[in-house]
Amino acid sequence: MAPVTDDDLAALAALRAEVEACTLCELHATRAKAVPGEGDPGSDLMFVGEAPGYHEDQQGRPFVGQAGKLLEQLLASIGLTREQVFIANVLKSRPPNNRDPRPEEIAACQPYLWRQIELIKPKVICTLGNHATKLLTGVPAGITRVHGRPQPTEISGHSLYLYPIFHPAAALYTPAMLTTLKEDFLRLPELLAHAAPPADEPGPTEAAVPGTPADPPRAAPASAGADVAGAPPAKPEQLGLF
Ligand code: URA
Repeated sequence: MAPVTDDDLAALAALRAEVEACTLCELHATRAKAVPGEGDPGSDLMFVGEAPGYHEDQQGRPFVGQAGKLLEQLLASIGLTREQVFIANVLKSRPPNNRDPRPEEIAACQPYLWRQIELIKPKVICTLGNHATKLLTGVPAGITRVHGRPQPTEISGHSLYLYPIFHPAAALYTPAMLTTLKEDFLRLPELLAHAAPPADEPGPTEAAVPGTPADPPRAAPASAGADVAGAPPAKPEQLGLF
């Protein structure tokens, strides 16, 4: 866990207040409440969804509707609660009728997300669905192609892994997607255990990250991530994640 200083907490509180008062895009006129994000600011694991829906807009909290219930179940499957991670969205205000975020809305909101990442310093960011994945990877590849494949990256000078997975709201209605989402989720502990490569040891190159149909995402063996006592921890490349 990254140490959280009083300055970090103060900066996050200031950021929250800024988001709650934000008028940078037209969504401020139709929202009930802005949804800055919440959770453990020292967590190694952050989730980034698309945008608040109806319930989130009413409560000012991310993922409190049906998709949020699923997210909580998925977290429970790896022994975590929502309070132990940080949950945010690409957009901090609800688009009317849950329409897709517009490019100008994403552009206006992006600095808030980047500042959150800078302050929270997660080792892994799970991008939920297409919008978060495209924004954070900077690549227009769809989630179906890239899900379950960790991507080493740097955001605001901070090294981390992006881990794209299906959006829980989409998986609610598509059983096959739900199965895949559960499988991808179960590989998170392994990734977290081995994330943040030392500064002198760069993460795997793009070429080492599975990205072709001939090299599909693989399920981690049940024993993956359990270090043998006394042995140095295995590298992610040795564990089936890459
Ligand atoms: N879907 C999202 O993308 N974010 C939320 O906060 C809720 C549902």
